[in-house]
Amino acid sequence: MSYTGPDLDPPQPRRSPLRRPLTVAIAALVPGALLGWGVYAAVGGPDDGGAGTDRAAGERTSQAPSSGAPSSATSSATGDAKAPTGSSPSPTASTRQPSASASAPAAASGPLKGKVVVIDPGHNPGNFRHTAEINRKVNVGTHWKECDTTGTATDAGWPEAEFTLDVAHRLRTLLQQQGATVRLTQDDDRSYGPCVDERARIGNAARADAAISIHADGSGTGNRGFHVILPGSVHDGAADTRAIVAPSAELGERVAGNFVRATGSAPSNYVGGGTGLVTRTDLGGLNLSTVPKVFIECGNMRDGADAALLTSGAWRQKAAQGMSEGIVSFLRG
Ligand code: ZN
Repeated sequence: MSYTGPDLDPPQPRRSPLRRPLTVAIAALVPGALLGWGVYAAVGGPDDGGAGTDRAAGERTSQAPSSGAPSSATSSATGDAKAPTGSSPSPTASTRQPSASASAPAAASGPLKGKVVVIDPGHNPGNFRHTAEINRKVNVGTHWKECDTTGTATDAGWPEAEFTLDVAHRLRTLLQQQGATVRLTQDDDRSYGPCVDERARIGNAARADAAISIHADGSGTGNRGFHVILPGSVHDGAADTRAIVAPSAELGERVAGNFVRATGSAPSNYVGGGTGLVTRTDLGGLNLSTVPKVFIECGNMRDGADAALLTSGAWRQKAAQGMSEGIVSFLRG
C-alpha cells in the first residue's frame, strides 16, 4: 500500500534518472511479455502517462539477467537447478517461526551461500488491533511518521498484510534453495509492527547483502501494475542513504526486470512513467537502511483485475520467482 497510508505517502514528483535505461532493460528481458505490455499500455487507465512510451531508448541489454528464459521455468540461468535437493530441510511455511533469527538452515551450498537476504513483509495482520501503538511516531531521519500502518486490502477484504506474508514465505523458500540465509522482519509472530525504523534496523543488523520490502498498493480502480521503489539520496538526521542509492538502484532494476518476465505483469500505469521504478525519500524503511534495499508494490489491491492476480497463489509464486531471480542476479553480480 503506498498512497493511502502514512507509511507510504503520496507519490513524489516522477523523477527517475534510471527511467530510460531501466525501461529498456526490462524490454530486453521480456520480448515475449512486451506484446502484452503494449496491449496493456494501449488499454491502460486514464492516469497512464507513459507506459511503454519510452522503452525503445537506452542500451542496457548486457545487464539483462536471465534473458530468454521462459517465465514458467524455475530452472533458469540464475541457477535454481543447482540447488541441492535432499541435503536441506524443506523450508516450511510455518508462520510462527521467530522472525529475527535465520529460518530453516540454508542449503549447504548454492550460488547464494554466505549471502544474507532480509525480507520485510509489509505491515502486520495484527496492526488493526493496535492502532495506538502503530500510530506512535518514530523518527525516520527526515521527519517523524507513524510506526506502521494497517495496509490496504482487496475490495473483498483480503488484507495486504496476508498477501505480503504469503509472498515473503514463497520468496524465502526460493532464496534458501539458492543457499541464501534469509531473515524476515516479522512473520506474524508479534502482535503488531515492527515499526518502520525497526524494519530498517533488522536489515542493517543482519548486514544484509540485499533487503526487500513487500507490499501491494491501495490506489484507485484502473490503476494497475507493479512498481519498485528505490531510495533517493537522503542525508538528514539518522538517515544517510548515500552509500546505498546506487546498489539499491541496481537491485531494483534487476527485481523489476525479472518481475516483468516472471509474472508477465506490466509496470505501473499510474506512477513511474511506465518504467516500474519510482525513487522516494520519504520512506523510513529506506531512509534508515544502510544495506541495499528496495520496496516492491506488486499490484493494486483496489483494482479488480490486479486483485484477481494478487489473490492467486499461482501468480504470487510467479511474483516471488521474479523477485528471487532479481535478487540472485544482483547478488551474483
Ligand atoms: Zn503496504
